Amino acid sequence: MSDNAHKGSFGWLWRGYLRPHWPALVLAGIFMALEGSMLGFLSYMMKPMFDTVFIEGDGSALWLVGSGILAIFLIRALTSVGQKLILARVTSAAIYRMKTRLTAHLMRLDTSWHGRNPPGALIERVSNDTTAVRNVGNVVITGLGRDVVALISLLAVVLWIDWQWTLVALIGTPLLVAPTLLAQRFIRRATTQDRQLAQSMTTRLDEVFHGINPIKLNRLEEYQSHRFDSLAHQRVKAEVRAQVGRATVPALIDVMTGIGFFAVLVYGGREIIGGEKTVGEFMSFFTAMALAFEPLRRLGQISGAWQAAKISIGRVREFFDTTPSLTSPASPRAPGTGDITFEDVRLSYGDAPVLNGLTLTARAGETTALVGPSGAGKSTVFNLLTRLVDPNSGRISIGDVPVAEMDLAALRNQFSMVSQEALLFDDSLRENILLGQDVSDARLQAALKAAHVADFVKDFPEGLETPAGPRGSNLSGGQRQRIAIARALLRDSPVLLLDEATSALDTKSEAVVQAALDQLSQGRTTLVIAHRLSTVRKADRILVMTAGRVVEQGTHETLLAEGGIYAELYRLQFAEGENAPISAP
Ligand code: ADP
Repeated sequence: MSDNAHKGSFGWLWRGYLRPHWPALVLAGIFMALEGSMLGFLSYMMKPMFDTVFIEGDGSALWLVGSGILAIFLIRALTSVGQKLILARVTSAAIYRMKTRLTAHLMRLDTSWHGRNPPGALIERVSNDTTAVRNVGNVVITGLGRDVVALISLLAVVLWIDWQWTLVALIGTPLLVAPTLLAQRFIRRATTQDRQLAQSMTTRLDEVFHGINPIKLNRLEEYQSHRFDSLAHQRVKAEVRAQVGRATVPALIDVMTGIGFFAVLVYGGREIIGGEKTVGEFMSFFTAMALAFEPLRRLGQISGAWQAAKISIGRVREFFDTTPSLTSPASPRAPGTGDITFEDVRLSYGDAPVLNGLTLTARAGETTALVGPSGAGKSTVFNLLTRLVDPNSGRISIGDVPVAEMDLAALRNQFSMVSQEALLFDDSLRENILLGQDVSDARLQAALKAAHVADFVKDFPEGLETPAGPRGSNLSGGQRQRIAIARALLRDSPVLLLDEATSALDTKSEAVVQAALDQLSQGRTTLVIAHRLSTVRKADRILVMTAGRVVEQGTHETLLAEGGIYAELYRLQFAEGENAPISAP
């Protein structure tokens, strides 16, 4: 992303996330202004303290001045807590709103986009880039609301005492301009690099922890540690560079203030010795300068903090600006019922053709098995039917209605998908089956029984409240699949998509899963990527696919009789026994 890809980051942030809180922000602004202006009053109090109380010896004024100073500190304490509280609420609300919206938006983006953007990169942007808002609140808004007012009030005091001294004190200011601009560019670059590295690190972590078993089995721990370590090293460099950049401006302000102090002391000190100015005036002026120091330093950090926040906001906006291309049509047709047909469907990924004029029919209410070698395009058929991808050309319909003309959500409601990779969440089994649906207990029990989930859940002490573990890791492959079948039964959609596993199930669990699937597929149009002989034999129709085309079709018997590819596959694998896969996964 170029530096200029996103102009007006603050405007965007304001419109989407801060404006809804404007009354609270106005109140916080008033508190900040009050808090900031107290510094001016404090420095002003030095004059009566020295001139009236100490030098003139007016004892009655002592109480007045003392109470004034006490009041100043009390007001500062109250307003400071008040503005921080409000700002914390506003920024936290904004951050979580942004996270929620971004997550929802990312879920709508195309499968192909997700294929190009690894989960770690998305996680990094959702969890960390969004928190840039907090920096904007703490540094930028507080800086502008409190520190600017503090400086104005202090400036009023010093101008009131002597405008010439003020000019002398500001002698070092021009020194700030050029280095500040340079530091900004430096911070921008270092921060961009740091955010990219953070994204790579999260991606790596995601890959490592999702692949923990293969990593252990292939003894890749050291290899992965090295790769992580090298990123960590680069990140240290980038972070140090960004920090140094951000520390530059406050350091320059130190230098500038030092020069100012020196100049005022030399110039103004003479006027005091000469009796032209009182000690009280000098003390007020000096106090104002001393008090200006902290707000100035903080303001010096604003540009750096803003540069860093802008990079993160830009990264978040980049995702928001991406729109899904697979969307519902403007005026969708009601989902059709009936045969599923593919007519001359072509699809390529880049230059690589995957489907070359695929034509097939899966009859309503029947079971159609897809068999063929790995890479033949069987899963692609599912992806096209459910519109995870759109074809380059050709027509895919259910009944007479092309899938592209249906509302996307309504289309996907037509399907239940059961595969070995059943997506289980780190939640109870009950939640994993219900998925937020409100289902009567009788219906749930019936589904548990039909899916043969009841068989194994009864052995768990916690029953349905048993946690499934991350990605369902507390369950066996067959159990996960049965949970998916129970889900599908409750979902009760007309079309069933099955992606069979080849090797994960032993004979006994395969028999149970098969029984559950038989229940599920009753009365539904079923498309199955078949690997088990039992499934293939029982299918009403078998479609044999190679290289993105259906090359043979028929029943087990007719295909065997034809003596083509299917017969060859069957002969090759029959020798390995009933459970041998008829095709590679
Ligand atoms: P099967 O399910 O029959 O094993 P697939 O439908 O998964 O085959 O894949 C068919 C072909 O499409 C394969 O050559 C695969 O490499 C390719 N393919 C699948 N998805 C993608 C993708 N997202 N990007 C590029 N190529 C893909």
